[in-house]
Amino acid sequence: MEAGSGKPELECRLCLAAVRDEAEGPEAELCFPCNCRAPVHRGCLVQWQRVQEQQLMEQRHSFDEAQARMNTCEVCGARLLPGEERSKPQLGSAVCRAQGGTGKVALRRVPTLSRATRNFSDFSATDGQQLDVLEQDATGEFFRVRAKKAHRYRGEGTTAVAEGWIRHVYLDWQCDLSNQSWLPPPRMPAALLAEGTDRLEAVNVEAAQDSRMQEQDET
Ligand SMILES: [Zn+2]
Ligand SMILES: [Zn+2]
Repeated sequence: MEAGSGKPELECRLCLAAVRDEAEGPEAELCFPCNCRAPVHRGCLVQWQRVQEQQLMEQRHSFDEAQARMNTCEVCGARLLPGEERSKPQLGSAVCRAQGGTGKVALRRVPTLSRATRNFSDFSATDGQQLDVLEQDATGEFFRVRAKKAHRYRGEGTTAVAEGWIRHVYLDWQCDLSNQSWLPPPRMPAALLAEGTDRLEAVNVEAAQDSRMQEQDET
């Protein structure tokens, strides 16, 4: 985050070394998989993702949440894309539509349908607010957005700029979307649809809680 603070030697943010022990080829390369300034060895990142996935599944997080968390930077919130270009979203801005409730939509730390508190930031997008759209997640369901003068989701106060993930149902692109294939028709990722009815019901409950949570906050 701190710009212009000298020229530090490049070290892996996970193993804290410049050279990865006993690694060769792509594994030993330092890469910049997100928006953070600190690089990471490709091999260290893959290892960290494997451990994350294992721990999250052991803690009985949903498959959807585990995938979202292991593929999202905990620091900057961007997708971890070690080998790929970060593709720009088709449209760079959209207007928040809170769909009733408190008029606020809490921004998520990770693009997951899970409604657990750990997945939400403290800040929100407000109904009618113009948002910068930064990227789309792997499922297509979520977009990472930047909100200026973002309001706290609970309580009073604002922050100059907040970034986070928001479901596309809360975004109004203000244009004709009839030929926009990048917007997902389903309400949930294909990965969840493929997992059978148990999971589907769980997701429907979460979707219902989406609106209930807003209603609760009106009191
Ligand atoms: Zn490393
Ligand atoms: Zn990052």
